[in-house]
Amino acid sequence: MTLHAKAYAKVNLHLEVLHHREDGYHEVETILQTIGLHDTLVFRATKGAIHVHCDHPSVPNDRDNLCHRAALLVRKQLGLRGGVDITLEKKIPVAAGLGGGSADAAATLLALPRLWGEELGEELLHEMAAQLGADVPFFLKGGTQLARGIGDELTPLHASGEGVFLLVTPKLELSTARVYEGLKMGLTHHGPKVNLQNYKALLSRFPDRAWPGFNRLGDVVLPANPGLHRLYLHLQDTGPRLAMMSGSGPSIFAVYRSLEEAELARQSLPDPSVFTWIGRSTRFGVQLTEVRDR
Ligand code: ATP
Repeated sequence: MTLHAKAYAKVNLHLEVLHHREDGYHEVETILQTIGLHDTLVFRATKGAIHVHCDHPSVPNDRDNLCHRAALLVRKQLGLRGGVDITLEKKIPVAAGLGGGSADAAATLLALPRLWGEELGEELLHEMAAQLGADVPFFLKGGTQLARGIGDELTPLHASGEGVFLLVTPKLELSTARVYEGLKMGLTHHGPKVNLQNYKALLSRFPDRAWPGFNRLGDVVLPANPGLHRLYLHLQDTGPRLAMMSGSGPSIFAVYRSLEEAELARQSLPDPSVFTWIGRSTRFGVQLTEVRDR
C-alpha cells in the first residue's frame, strides 16, 4: 500500500508574543489558519531504513528533515523496525512563516501508523508532535485554531472560509530565532488580547466585516526590511479586508472578498517574479489518501 498526503500551509491571523521564558521559548497567543497551498508526500513501506527524498535545495534529505525525525519517533513509539521511503514535493515556500516543515512532520505522524497497520491515540500523537516543534500539534487537525503557551495549547475555532487569500513570499532570508531576539522583550509581559467570545463572533463574519489582524513580529521585521514594508503597504492599498505578515515572515498575505479582487491585486505587484498563490482557507491540516499497489 502507498499513502499520499497533502500537508497544508498555515498563516497567522493574529500573533502576539506574551513573554520570553527562561527556557528560551516565547509564550505566544496566535490564531492559526490552514490554507489550500500544500506540499505532497508519498509514503511507501519498505523492509529497509527510513529514507526521505526531496529535491528542494534548502530542504535536507538526511536526519535533519522533519519527516525523518517524525518517522523515527513513530517507529520508536510503536517498537517497530519497518522502513519507509518518503518522497516530499515542496510547494510551500521554505522558511517563509508558513509552517511547511511542521505540516510535513504532522503528515508523517499521521501517515506512518496507518501505513504500518498500527494506531496511535490522539493524545499520544499530540505529545509526539509537540516534541518535533511548537506548530506541529496544530497541523494534526488544521483549520482555524487559537494556540497559546508555546503554541501547543490549542482551542478549535470556526471561520466562515469565504475569503480569498493572496499570498506573496519575497525571496528574503529571515531567521526566526533572530526575529524573536529582535523583540528585545526583557521582562515585558503583554496581556492576552483574544477574548474568545468576541473573536468567535468576529471570525464568523470575516471577511464581510473587518478583522483586527495583528502580528507583533511585524514590529521587528518590517522596519528592518524596507522592501518588505513597501510590499505590505502596497497590499494594504489594494483594498483587502486584511493584510498581514504571517509568522516571522517574510510571507505577507491579504484577504479579499472575491477571486477577481485578489487577481487584480496580484497583477498590481511591482515585482512579477515574486512567489504568489491565490486560494481559500481549508478545514484540514493533513489529508491522507490510500493508493492500492497493483
Ligand atoms: P515556521 O512558520 O514554523 O517558523 P517556516 O515556514 O518559517 O516555519 P519551514 O519551511 O518549516 O519554516 O523551514 C524551516 C527550516 O527547517 C528550513 O531551514 C529547512 O531547511 C528545515 N526543514 C527541515 N525539514 C523540512 C521540511 N520537511 N520542509 C521544509 N523545511 C524543512
